[in-house]
Amino acid sequence: MSDILSRHRQLCELLTEYGHQYYVLDNPTVPDAEYDRLMRELLSLEVEHPELKTPASPSVRVGGQPLAAFKQVRHEIPMLSLDNVFSSEELMAFEQRMRDRLKRGLDFTFCCEPKLDGLAVSLLYVDGQLVQAATRGDGASGEEITDNVRTIKAIPLALRGSGWPTRLEVRGEVFMPKAGFEAMNEKALAAGEKVFVNPRNAAAGSLRQLDSRITASRPLSFYAYGVGVGGDELGNSHFGRLNQLKEWGLPLSPEVKLKEGAAGCQAFHDDILARRAELPYEIDGVVYKVDDIALQLELGFVARAPRWATAHKFPAEEEMTLLENVEFQV
Ligand code: NAD
Repeated sequence: MSDILSRHRQLCELLTEYGHQYYVLDNPTVPDAEYDRLMRELLSLEVEHPELKTPASPSVRVGGQPLAAFKQVRHEIPMLSLDNVFSSEELMAFEQRMRDRLKRGLDFTFCCEPKLDGLAVSLLYVDGQLVQAATRGDGASGEEITDNVRTIKAIPLALRGSGWPTRLEVRGEVFMPKAGFEAMNEKALAAGEKVFVNPRNAAAGSLRQLDSRITASRPLSFYAYGVGVGGDELGNSHFGRLNQLKEWGLPLSPEVKLKEGAAGCQAFHDDILARRAELPYEIDGVVYKVDDIALQLELGFVARAPRWATAHKFPAEEEMTLLENVEFQV
C-alpha cells in the first residue's frame, strides 16, 4: 500500500506541475500523450483506491489558476473539461453508461464536432454587443481578455439579425490556423527569436497578452461550440443552437454534423482522422455531444466534465524529442 500511496503522490505532483506549465505559463514541457498517459494511470489508481481521491487531485480539477495580472471573471455557468475515450470500445461504453443512467433503452443522436486544439473562451453579448470575453481558467473563474478578443476578426463585435437573448454567452475555441502558425514561426526563426511549440500554445500565448497590439498581430481565429448564459431561451437541440449562432454571425466549423449512435460517431471520427492532415487547423480529436438538451440536463455532470459529452482523442502526433533543446516563447 505504501508503494501505491507514493505513486499516487508522485502522479499528483507531476500532473500538477505539468498542468501549471501548460495552462498557466502556456509553456508545456512534456507532450500531451505523456500527460494523458499519467492522467489515465492516476484515474485508474483512484478507481481502485477511491480513498486516495481528494478535491485537490488533478483528476477532479479543471485547467489552471487564472493569471493574477488579468482581471478575474467569475463564470455564471462553470466552464468544464471533457472526458476522453481512446477507442471504439470506450466509445460504446460511454453510450452504454448514459443508457444505464437514464434507465431507458434510448437511441441517441449526437452532435459531432472537431476538437480544435486552442483555448476555450467565453464571449458575453449584451443586447447583441460583445461586452466581455474571458478564458476558461480553472472553470470557475477565468481571465478577462476582452480587448484581446476584440482584435480577432472572426469574432463579431455585434450580432447580426435579431431575436437573440438579452444576455447571450457564446463559448468556443480560439485557435491559430496551421498556415499562420508556420509563417509566424518562420519569421521568428529568421529574426533569431523564440518559436512556439505548437499552434495551441501559440494561440494561448497570443491571447493572454497584456498588450492587445501583440494579440492583434497574431493570426488567430475562432469557432463557436456552445452556449452558456441565455441557452435556456434557445431551442432543445445543441446542433440547432449552433446553427442559430451561425445565423447571428458567429463562425461554426463546417465539419459539425449530426450522427446516430456510437456507430455514427465512429464513422465521423474515422472520416475526420483520415482528413486530419488536410484540415487548415490542428485538432487533437473529435467531440460527441448528446444533441437533446433535455437529456443533457437529465444526465448532468461529474466533478470536471459533463456526462453527456466525450472527446475521442486521436493518436499523438508529437514526439518527446521534439520538445528538447528548443527555447519556446510564451
Ligand atoms: P481538453 O482540452 O481535453 O478538453 C476540453 C477542452 O476542449 C475545452 O475546454 C475546449 O477548449 C476544447 N474544445 C475544443 N473543441 C471543442 C468542442 N467542439 N466542444 C467542446 N470543447 C471543445 O481538456 P483540458 O482539461 O483542457 O485538457 C486536458 C488535455 O490538455 C489533456 O488531454 C492533455 O492533452 C492536455 N494537457 C497537456 C499538458 C502537457 O503538459 N502537455 C498539461 C495539461 C493538459
